[in-house]
Amino acid sequence: MAKKKTPVNETNLAGGSFTGVDDAELLGERITRYGQAHARSLLMLEHLRAAPSLASTRTAAGLASCGNYLHFREYFTVGKVRLHNATFCKQHLVCPLCAIRRGAKALGAYLTRWQVIQQERPELRPYLLTLTVKNGDDLEERQAHLTKSLRKLMDHRRNFNSGVPRAPWTELCKAQGGVYTLELTNKGKGWHPHCHMIVLASSQPSQSDLSAEWLRITGDSMIVDCRPITGDPSEGFMEVFKYAVKFCDLTLEDNWHAAQILKGKRLLNSFGLFRGVEIPDSLLDEPLDELPYWDRFYRYLEGEYQFTGEAPKSRENR
Ligand SMILES: [Zn+2]
Repeated sequence: MAKKKTPVNETNLAGGSFTGVDDAELLGERITRYGQAHARSLLMLEHLRAAPSLASTRTAAGLASCGNYLHFREYFTVGKVRLHNATFCKQHLVCPLCAIRRGAKALGAYLTRWQVIQQERPELRPYLLTLTVKNGDDLEERQAHLTKSLRKLMDHRRNFNSGVPRAPWTELCKAQGGVYTLELTNKGKGWHPHCHMIVLASSQPSQSDLSAEWLRITGDSMIVDCRPITGDPSEGFMEVFKYAVKFCDLTLEDNWHAAQILKGKRLLNSFGLFRGVEIPDSLLDEPLDELPYWDRFYRYLEGEYQFTGEAPKSRENR
């Protein structure tokens, strides 16, 4: 059976099959990736338990119950595996497992919208725009600087589009729609917050013009990258929806600090044609109704997810 280039429809996009992650043959890889993510969550749990505080006690309780088991269903007639049940803490700033699942759900929702837009506006193409600010030691200050600068850039677009007198043109006016997220790294040279944006436009926004505009706005950074997303759109889109904190670049201490600063902040925004996309609350996959399946139950034991012969419980935790 040819597995590539199956016709795209909304149902299979939202379920994640567009990215191929639910192919039965990829389950082993997926389990390994989830296992590595869960291992990091457990390190964070230990870290928080070592120096308990009011805030960390609740977070630790969530981490302690997150991802201890994964109940998949293998729909063997179509070669698909869906995550049917699990317990998630939904603390995506400290838990890579929840971050991965959250990213997958956002990716599915926006790819679905993109497919619909493409039908209606075939002249539009997706571009990946990255905007950064200079590194710094004070995360809260750098984060606020990025957020404020982005707001100014979006204001420029809105003001020009709505005909505000003397409002200057911005290359972002080419965008008929966009969705952007904030991401954070720290590779030992200070905090580096940045923004990844998908821009839908009929012609490519000029990187040099955007760079000059971004320097005028930020006063300290001209680093802007704008490139077309070619080939499989899920790869370019993935860049935007992967995670808010880059766990592998952060010590546990820095990760916890970042989580405190980013908590409650809006890290995903959209405009124009991408406005109003709803990301499902559940971190589980959609089941494939009315197809026969095998249950595949994994429990985290001795540092990895291991297949057990257990009979799974019903789907109670979404
Ligand atoms: Zn979690």
